[in-house]
Amino acid sequence: MYDIIIIGAGPAGLTAAIYARRAEKQVLVIEKDTFGGQITHSPRVENYPGFSSVSGNELADRLIEQTIEQGAMIELDEVTGIEGTPGDYTVKGVAKDYKARAVIIASGSHHRRLGLDGEERLTGEGISYCAVCDGAFYRGQTVAVIGGGNSALQDAVMLSDGCEKVYVVQNLPYLTGEERLQKILADRPQVEIICSSVVERLVGNESLRAIEILNTESGERRSLSIDGMFVAIGQCPENEPFASVTELNGAGYITADESCVPVGSPDGIFAAGDCRTKSVRQVTTATADGAVAALAAIRFIDSLSQ
Ligand SMILES: Cc1cc2nc3c(=O)[nH]c(=O)nc-3n(C[C@H](O)[C@H](O)[C@H](O)COP(=O)(O)OP(=O)(O)OC[C@H]3O[C@@H](n4cnc5c(N)ncnc54)[C@H](O)[C@@H]3O)c2cc1C
Repeated sequence: MYDIIIIGAGPAGLTAAIYARRAEKQVLVIEKDTFGGQITHSPRVENYPGFSSVSGNELADRLIEQTIEQGAMIELDEVTGIEGTPGDYTVKGVAKDYKARAVIIASGSHHRRLGLDGEERLTGEGISYCAVCDGAFYRGQTVAVIGGGNSALQDAVMLSDGCEKVYVVQNLPYLTGEERLQKILADRPQVEIICSSVVERLVGNESLRAIEILNTESGERRSLSIDGMFVAIGQCPENEPFASVTELNGAGYITADESCVPVGSPDGIFAAGDCRTKSVRQVTTATADGAVAALAAIRFIDSLSQ
């Protein structure tokens, strides 16, 4: 029986483990895939305080090292569900089941990809899924934002503050993001909106140099020379295994606020990081959640013995 099981070894889960260990709780972190989470896909992080520039892998390695040094246990397994009652939970894994008094879900999310040849290879080499993270690297350059919803339009507004040219490529005949954002973009001469168009091909070996787009109405093809492409076609949280103990919103995020206590969940279940409803998904906000969730879990466990 662990005091706390943490599902997911991204920045949120690892921070929660560090805080829980410092309170001398018995902690197990279960990770199904990449220790360090999404940030390992970023070649350069320049907005995490204390590091003027660090690779995502190095940041993740340091977090993992610190977590292990503090004495947390780590398992490679995929969690498929949570059962039980407050203070006595069974976390069901593919390999085996685990028992804990409290559970912190820190399962993150991932950005939806276009599914094009070379996309994986060029990620971090001209392809980004996060304008907040990487927009500053393209100051004065030409970029394309793929998508037409609120996230894409917010990215385009932010990028057009510093970029020389911003294409917005949307597959539908119209943009679906807020009218207000559409108006801002319409007033900026450096922004070109291209509707009814899909990206067919990525051009570039070492780094992205251009994209080929197809107008699905006219059949016309066009090549856009760009320095960077920001894909903003949605995020996919991975919260189905937790649907029996948490309330998921329409997009699949666990409904929880800054307290990291999910709405309607039994006591002793917490949600931290990108897996929960929130407006900013970054390493800083994930680590902040990890701390908040761990402290709440510690208080819950201590209340069991009072
Ligand atoms: C390419 C890229 C660049 C980025 N750049 C920056 C940046 O420069 N600055 C910044 O602040 N943020 C950046 N981000 C965002 C940042 O990485 C995330 O906000 C942060 O990693 C969220 O942390 P998390 O711990 O909540 O989730 P994640 O990092 O997503 O970690 C969740 C972990 O849970 C695991 N998991 C999921 N389901 C299960 C399960 N059922 N069983 C076991 N394990 C499970 C996953 O495998 C994953 O490892 C970037 C993201 C990407 C993709």
